[in-house]
Amino acid sequence: MYTLFNLLLSIISSENGIRLLFKYGFIGKEGEPLKCQHCGHTKFKTIVVDRIGYTVSESKEMCRRCDKMVGYWSYGNWEL
Ligand SMILES: [Zn+2]
Repeated sequence: MYTLFNLLLSIISSENGIRLLFKYGFIGKEGEPLKCQHCGHTKFKTIVVDRIGYTVSESKEMCRRCDKMVGYWSYGNWEL
């Protein structure tokens, strides 16, 4: 499994990599994180990066097990 995660990480930035992440259930349709790409954990914590008034404009999702970033929310979209 460890090798698969590393392989996914190495191609995560490519279009094909995003499709693979979706296929294996790491991200949802909107690009939202479902499963940690680093360790496979499914529980995350949200860290607010920036807000406009009371609305969160940017936040990041961190894995609760390995503490690595699994997703970035920015102005209404998940960034990959
Ligand atoms: Zn993790």
